[in-house]
This record gives sequence, structure tokens and C-alpha cells, in this order.
Amino acid sequence: MVKYIFVTGGVLSSVGKGIVTSSIGKMLQARGLKVTVIKIDPYVNVDAGTMNPYMHGEVYVTDDGGETDLDLGWYERFLDLNLKKENNITTGMVYKAIIEKERRGNFLGRCVQIVPHVTNEIKSRIRAVAKNSGVDVVLTEVGGTVGDIEGLPFLEAIRQMRLEEGFQNTLYVHVALVPILDVTKEMKTKPLQHSVNELRRIGIQPDIIVARCPKMINSEALRKIALFGTIPENAVFCSYNVESIYQVPLILDKQGMGDFVCKRLELGDFKPDFKEWESFVNAILNPKHEVKIALVGKYAGLADSYVSMSEALRHGGAMCKTKISIYYIEAEKFEENPKTIEKLREYNGIFVPYGFGPRGTEGKIMAIQFARENNIPFLGICYGFQLAVIEFARHVCGLKDANSTEINPKSPNPVIDLMPEQRGIEYKGATMRLGAHKIIVKPNTIAYNLYKSKEIYERHRHRFEVNLDYLETLEKNGLVFSGRSADGRRMEILELPNHFFFFASQFHGEFKSRPGRPDPEYYGFVKACLDKKLGKSKPEF
Ligand code: GLN
Repeated sequence: MVKYIFVTGGVLSSVGKGIVTSSIGKMLQARGLKVTVIKIDPYVNVDAGTMNPYMHGEVYVTDDGGETDLDLGWYERFLDLNLKKENNITTGMVYKAIIEKERRGNFLGRCVQIVPHVTNEIKSRIRAVAKNSGVDVVLTEVGGTVGDIEGLPFLEAIRQMRLEEGFQNTLYVHVALVPILDVTKEMKTKPLQHSVNELRRIGIQPDIIVARCPKMINSEALRKIALFGTIPENAVFCSYNVESIYQVPLILDKQGMGDFVCKRLELGDFKPDFKEWESFVNAILNPKHEVKIALVGKYAGLADSYVSMSEALRHGGAMCKTKISIYYIEAEKFEENPKTIEKLREYNGIFVPYGFGPRGTEGKIMAIQFARENNIPFLGICYGFQLAVIEFARHVCGLKDANSTEINPKSPNPVIDLMPEQRGIEYKGATMRLGAHKIIVKPNTIAYNLYKSKEIYERHRHRFEVNLDYLETLEKNGLVFSGRSADGRRMEILELPNHFFFFASQFHGEFKSRPGRPDPEYYGFVKACLDKKLGKSKPEF
């Protein structure tokens, strides 16, 4: 019998529900149970792919090419899972499916309604994940905040699931903010009480309440939460601020949450084993070195735009006991004031992430040139890879007007161009080259040294690529393409053999990076930043 845990949130969004959900999964995994996680996003977009990362955070890409909410990244990192498109359910997806069925005539003669048709569709999607994954426990996080209009059908669906699946097989967790007032230093539980009331109005009585509070809640706050939430005090837990997000499962388990969940769901009595997780957390918390990394991007104002990348850097850091300090720099600043590029000298490494459209690209190209000419470790991802090709074409191969047709459609030297199969595509949703594809790694290269394999699978999300008409020129001038698609036509990795570390990939290594098992390109970059700082003549991987 599959068990279902549903996580809702109150008071504010971004309250850390994703981390709490991942942490519950971790506590169960530490007890030998198999879990999977679903994120429900009540917005009307069919997937996250068409949203601006500057508002919604990064788009997380799954192996099967799903463009999903960034919470799936947290689930994958915490739980070492490879999730699928089906693990992210949106209003857009649900309605699209229902309207298609209605047009086909599946509901002929009937009036199609939110209850039961929409709620049935939601429940069947949750159950399909349970069936396909064969796990012991399915965790479902409902995005947004209780009370949001667009969330109602989802809450109604999970409410119905208690009746259908049984009390001992379903558990509701509510996560809500408990602010501390600046002036009086008091912990305020009233907003949480209101959100619990809102949840009950819909018909859901939480079994567990997690207070998200800057500090561990005091006994008075705990008593109030239990009393007004109508739950025993031992069902109230607190997710307080910690140095590293990866500590959250440990602090919640210490409060008894793992045991409580297992008992309540009649899963059994287990002794948790957090050995591996703890050793990773210890590495994060006790660094011996520090490196400063300049992330030159276009969405620098919102750290969530680059969350998988910054986590991948941290995983690499933990591997070499190095604290990673990331400085988010707006690329356009260099265009406005070119002299400021010199500031990049203060960093141990320069990182150019993914991106779209022309804004900020010249600034990024300036940063790449600075890294190349000053022997500063450089890592470029996706757009960062493409811009590195443009920089090299312009300043080394002498093609001064080299560009991507994404930036200048009329460029006389389009070294980066639209992939042939992308021509003629008008629909924007889910039409990029997405998901995991095979890459052949060239022996005797930095790439081979890092990946230690001739064949790797990495995740993609792009429309443009290296224009093969320029391959010979680029290679002749010293650019090495050390990774290519299986058919050899698609450039996937570039490197400069005579540089301390100059490496970029068309794919996104960050999506497969895990605590304790950093992605090789991120690890290589961090190690290079450290070794350069320590005065070594070349990086020692
Ligand atoms: N804009 C580029 C492309 O579509 C790069 C995409 C990315 O960085 N994810 O190919």
C-alpha cells in the first residue's frame, strides 16, 4: 500500500516548503524507505519553460526533457532521484488534458466540472506517479499558499484522497511562517493560525505543522500552535535558520519528525542512518579554504535564477573542503563602464551561466575575454559556452563581427546559429532541444580527465548551437571541442589546452550534481579556482 504525504504552505510563499518536503523525503530514505516527490504548481502555464527566470527562478530540466519548477531540483539533490515530467503537475497541464478529452467526446452528454472531472484528473496523475515509481511513499507539495484561488482544485483533490486512501495512508503537513517581531522579539503565531483555519475551511485538518521561524520556536509558541491547530504538541516542528540548507533534515529528525511520520503512517519502527548525509554536511560546514567566484549573468538580482548552478558549485566546494562565495554581477555593468572589467581580477574564477536574448551578452563576452587573457579559471554553461565561442572567434580567429543569430540575426559570421530542426518552429512551449542526450568525450582532454568516461549523458535546454561552417577555423586557432553529440555534428564541450582552466559546455551539468557527488565540470572549475589560488602550476583533479 502506497502512503501519501501532502505538504501545503501558509502565510507566504517561498517559506521553505520545498526544503521541508525534501527533508521529509530524506528522513524516510534514511530509514530505508523508497520515496518520490510531486510538485503541484497551480499556475495556468502548462510548464515552467515559458516563464521568466527573473520572476519565477530557474527552470529545472529533467532527464526526460521536462521544463519544471526549481523545487524538483531540490528533490533531486536531497533525495538523489531522477524525476520525470510527470512529477510536476500544473493547472495548465490538467486543463489541457481535460479539454482535449472533452473535445474528443470522452464526457459526451455530461457537464464537465471542477469537481469531479478536474479533481479526478489531479488524483489520477498523483496515483500514476505512485504506480510508475513503485515507491513506499509519495510526497506531494502543493505550490503557492493556502487560500490562493488557483490552488483550490488541488486542495480539494488531496482532501478527497484521505477518504479514498484511508487515514493511515495519508498525512497532511502544513508549513507556515512564524515571524519574530523586530521590536519586541516576540514569536508571532497568529498568521500561522489563520492559515491553518483557511486549510480547515477547505476541509483539511493538518496532522503536522512545521513552523518556519528564524529561531527554534519557544515552548509558548509551540503550545499555541498545537492548541489552535488542534494537534498534539509532538506534531509541531520547527524549521529554523541554519547555516546550510542541507542541515534541515537533520534538525527536523532530531525533533522527532521522522519517527512521528513513520508511526502515524504505520510504516514501521526504524533507526535512521544519516552517515553519508552528515559527512557531506560536515564538509560544507567546515571548509579549509575559500574561493570567490564572479557569476556574470543577466538575472543576477535573483539568486533563485541560478540555484542549481550555485548548488553545483557548493557540491564541488564540499569535495575540496572549500567554501564557495558567489558574487552575482550584472553583465550590463561592464558594457556601461568597460573599465570596471578590471574588478574581475579580484575573483578566483569567472562563471558565465545560461541565458537568452541579446541583453547583457556583450558584457558577458567581455568577462570571458578577461578570463581567457588573464589565465583566470573560467566555466561557461550553455549560453556561456556559446558566448565563449563568439569571444574566441572574434578575438583569436579575427572574425570581428562574429555573433549568434539569437543576438544579431544578420551577423555576417554567425558562429552560433539556430539548430536546423528548430527552423520553422513557431510554438515556444517545450520546443527547445531538451533533456538528456549522449555525448562522446575525446580522450586526452580536460573533459576526459574530469568525466573519466568516453560516453556521458547530460541535460540540455537550447535552440542554438555551434555553426559547423566555422569548426575548422575555430579548431585551427586552438579551440578544442572535447565533447560532441553521438553523431559528431553537435559541439558539446570546449576547452583551451594552454589555459589554467577554460572550460564550457552546451549542456547543463548542474542538473545532475548531487551532494557528495558533484558534477565533474563544476568540481573541475572549483578545484581549478582553488589550485590557482594556492599557487599551483596546473589544476590537480
Ligand atoms: N539562448 C541559448 C539557446 O537557446 C542558450 C540557452 C541556455 O543558455 N539555456 O541556445
